[in-house]
Amino acid sequence: MRPVPAGRDIRKKTNARAGRTGGGGERAVFIREEILKARFQEDRRTFVLKLNDYAGVIHLHSDYSHDGRASIREIVEAARSNGIDFVMLTDHNWLQAKYDGHERSYDGVHLIIGIEVTPRYNHYIAFGIDEPLISCDLAWVFPYEDELDISPQFYIDWVRNKGGIGFIAHPDHEGSPRFHVKQFNWNDWSVTGYTGMGIWDFMTDWQGQLTGFARALLSYYWPAYMLKGPKKETLRRWDELNRARRVVGIGELDNHETIKEMLGFEFRIFPFSKAFRFIRTHVLTEASFLEEGERNREIVLSALKRGRAYVALEYFEETRGFSFVVLDESEAATMGDEFYLDDIAIAQVELPQKGKIRLIRNGELFRETVGRELTCGIDEPGIYRVEAYLWRAFRYRPWIFSNPVYVR
Ligand SMILES: [Zn+2]
Ligand SMILES: [Zn+2]
Repeated sequence: MRPVPAGRDIRKKTNARAGRTGGGGERAVFIREEILKARFQEDRRTFVLKLNDYAGVIHLHSDYSHDGRASIREIVEAARSNGIDFVMLTDHNWLQAKYDGHERSYDGVHLIIGIEVTPRYNHYIAFGIDEPLISCDLAWVFPYEDELDISPQFYIDWVRNKGGIGFIAHPDHEGSPRFHVKQFNWNDWSVTGYTGMGIWDFMTDWQGQLTGFARALLSYYWPAYMLKGPKKETLRRWDELNRARRVVGIGELDNHETIKEMLGFEFRIFPFSKAFRFIRTHVLTEASFLEEGERNREIVLSALKRGRAYVALEYFEETRGFSFVVLDESEAATMGDEFYLDDIAIAQVELPQKGKIRLIRNGELFRETVGRELTCGIDEPGIYRVEAYLWRAFRYRPWIFSNPVYVR
């Protein structure tokens, strides 16, 4: 951005620009934004938020689940070959993989072992807990029991009281009636005390596209091209919840490497070497991972707990280099942070590749541009988050969904 000398009348130029974008209310912001940018340039002040960006995959099942097939060794190898830094395993209703000593670093891939609590509805994934749920682990007794009467608030509280973190899993899962996949959605929104929720679940999105045999075959061979992105109702609810309190958004995979038979053919859904190319959750951390070490788990969990994270589909392009910062002369904040607005601030988004950038405020589109960056002024509090889309194969594909900066 070209610096504007102090004292020069910039009104004429900014009026013209405001005229193009329309809206009288926007003009004031624009002028002050230009002045503020100029001031930054004169002072040569820069804020550097130096954070590590680690790519992870959350929510997957190994052969410790009744419906999982891949061994932990296969999962870790698939993660390594895909450049994944951490994997968050969630077998159904028990922590046996952890008791067997599998939670550790495997030559650059850190495995974190949590649990997925799976009654008929209201699935919940939790991490950072070392004890069985209730008095014994419930696996095998409790894969999907209709009659087992357990309220979601009970297991949300249980996880929190044990010092763990937990996320509402695939809240708007619909299944696929055509292919006999049952619906496993979340239906009790009176709950409180959870860390966050899945905002984009690979299986929800992928199964939602299985509306006929032809589409199913396309979806099987080219899943990334069929994905639609987070569901509108999921994002709407997430935005609403975030206005009351921090609700961290994560990406989920929910892969089991299930084998389905159809017309005499076997379909493996999906080998992890393929599945790990889909939806990932990145965490931004001050501390760096150690070669070996317990601490890596704490680094990931604390970043997730504070929302320093974004969700990405990296099948087409990697996302490292993505940044979203809100700053003024004295303060800088990124995803998951609170920012205390003093008059005016600037929001800056940078992408590693050209894309469509949408800055969302309180669930509404605030600014949109196509390019590698977006910079704009902010003079009102709100919950600001970013969506980015990548142009591939004749359309914009969902690419990046950030957690918000909470501007107070
Ligand atoms: Zn589930
Ligand atoms: Zn699952």
